[in-house]
Amino acid sequence: MKKEMTSFGDIQLSKKLLLAVSDMGFEEPSPIQSQTIPLVLEGKDVIGQAQTGTGKTAAFGIPTIEKIIDGSRHIQALVLTPTRELAIQIAEEFNKIGKYKRVKTLPIYGGQSIDRQIRALHAGVQIVVGTPGRLLDHLRRNTMKLSEVRILILDEADEMLDMGFVEDIETIMKNITHEDRQTLLFSATMPAPIAKLAGKYMRDPQKISISRENLTVPLIDQVYYETREKFEGLCRVLDIEETGKLIIFCRTKKGVDDLVASMQARAYMAGGLHGDLSQAQRDRVMKKFKDGKLEILVATDVAARGIDIDDITHVVNYDIPQDHESYVHRIGRTGRAGKKGVAVTFIEPREYRQLKLIERLAKTKIVRRDLPSSADILE
Ligand code: ADP
Ligand code: MG
Repeated sequence: MKKEMTSFGDIQLSKKLLLAVSDMGFEEPSPIQSQTIPLVLEGKDVIGQAQTGTGKTAAFGIPTIEKIIDGSRHIQALVLTPTRELAIQIAEEFNKIGKYKRVKTLPIYGGQSIDRQIRALHAGVQIVVGTPGRLLDHLRRNTMKLSEVRILILDEADEMLDMGFVEDIETIMKNITHEDRQTLLFSATMPAPIAKLAGKYMRDPQKISISRENLTVPLIDQVYYETREKFEGLCRVLDIEETGKLIIFCRTKKGVDDLVASMQARAYMAGGLHGDLSQAQRDRVMKKFKDGKLEILVATDVAARGIDIDDITHVVNYDIPQDHESYVHRIGRTGRAGKKGVAVTFIEPREYRQLKLIERLAKTKIVRRDLPSSADILE
């Protein structure tokens, strides 16, 4: 496929942004970036659909930060995102992109002290990235002014809808009344309710869709093991595979806690992440995992979306995902930014049909493997 833009220099970006992007190690724009950035700079509403790990954050971050008016301390852009972790991650990336332009981005999410957030908002920020619930809280308390917001971004829109945020999102959208409002919507999948939301709140949106044929990331080796002894199977696979950082997904919070306990009992360096933990606990475990002090993160689907951690070599579906969209999001945690990854799914015999359904709907190939025998492990 021919690329229209081969360097960030071809896109009309200011020196400050070009320098920041180069500091981040981005040499050339990814396809979603080369298509999205010029449209957003022109003032268009954009709907962007691209597989995970293709650089959607910078695709909306770069032009948004370029459009922030220097010197103004009002909130000029608002990003809505489904999870706390994602809010933090997007804010970090935005602060890197805005480093030389001195654009400040603040993450706002539930579980953190609201007074601290109010103080930070008071100090003046130009971009807020937040989860819908807490943002609404600030709106109701009148502690966040959105009258100067000209760019509204919905990231992982499908997930926000799945999580039941649709009313909150609509309320927030109705509060952004600037006549020049530009709306950007990003998602890996585009179910009907998203199209409806777009039709209602966007103006002549330009649609950008990248590799609709193949939703999963090509650099991921996808395999499955069928066994009634999943824990033993998992241990064998871990003992035989060369793994770096690894995320294991379980269906339930209790499943996460139980698996973490079993793994720790076998001396694996594992930590758990799910919605019942306090924000401080979640932050701690994520930091350890990022810093490499924890090899294995065991999580519910809360960690499946958007989380971008370098060098995750393996994603393990200890419990089969509920649907193909969840599958695509989970395995998208590996194989990022052109690196190779492995996705391993464990199924019990009765789950075979569900696996085949996921394989078909995700338009992918999941290859059957036999569990390594104890002899292989001793080698
Ligand atoms: P998505 O939201 O599409 O899942 P992200 O925005 O999280 O993807 O980006 C995935 C990874 O790719 C991140 O580590 C990001 O820093 C990196 N990345 C993004 N754009 C580029 C680029 N143009 N060149 C190199 N790496 C990039
Ligand atoms: Mg993303």
